[in-house]
Amino acid sequence: MKHAAFRFYAELNDFLPPDRRMISFDHPFLLSGSVKDMIEALGVPHTEVDLVLVNGESVDFSHPVQDGDRISVYPVFESLDITPLVHVRPRPLRQTRFVLDTHLGKLAVYLRMVGFDTLYRNDYADETLARISSGEGRILLTRDRELLKRSMVTHGYWLRATDPRQQLVEVVRRFDLFRAIAPFQRCLRCNGLLEPVAKKAVSDRLKPKTRQYYDEFSICKTCDRVYWKGSHYQRMQGFIERLLEQGEVSSLP
Ligand SMILES: [Zn+2]
Repeated sequence: MKHAAFRFYAELNDFLPPDRRMISFDHPFLLSGSVKDMIEALGVPHTEVDLVLVNGESVDFSHPVQDGDRISVYPVFESLDITPLVHVRPRPLRQTRFVLDTHLGKLAVYLRMVGFDTLYRNDYADETLARISSGEGRILLTRDRELLKRSMVTHGYWLRATDPRQQLVEVVRRFDLFRAIAPFQRCLRCNGLLEPVAKKAVSDRLKPKTRQYYDEFSICKTCDRVYWKGSHYQRMQGFIERLLEQGEVSSLP
């Protein structure tokens, strides 16, 4: 039997059993596989990993693990505290786009509500999710870590929270998106972009009360759904303001 010593850093420990967290532990093995396969066998999806050091040297995922190797595994640095560096820009440089697995319908609505390009359908197969993520450069969000172990998926994130609102906060924090929030620009139903529309153009589709009390309307360019700033809008606004307050708090020293 050969042996390697593994140590996982920061939130990668979320994937390990308690007795293996935050410490170096021994991992016996028979056949030398790639360091990627061994990390995933220990429970950590490769999409969560940004840096692997073997005996102090940076290696890529294909590195074959040898007897006696000491292996340190670090998470994607987006989640480490680089906020002072990132925040010199008014907005993130990258366009962050998502595709969500079939269990995350509520999170999809919340992400669209704050303006993020979010693909979601409740009938996407795992294969399809992986293909969309890879082909369109979308970050795959899921609570299913097996999905993130697919080799096609290079950008994915395993959600820790189970409550959809907490998941939204988690995603916005993780990818540092507080400054990219642009509410009420996307259709909550289909992810299409909204554009302003004249009241008279949609008037015949409105209920009498809506026609009476509201003058500003938007329409989805893709599915034609009409939006206005009713009571639902006020509630969403309050929700988004509270979310932004959390961003203020998290960027304090
Ligand atoms: Zn739409």
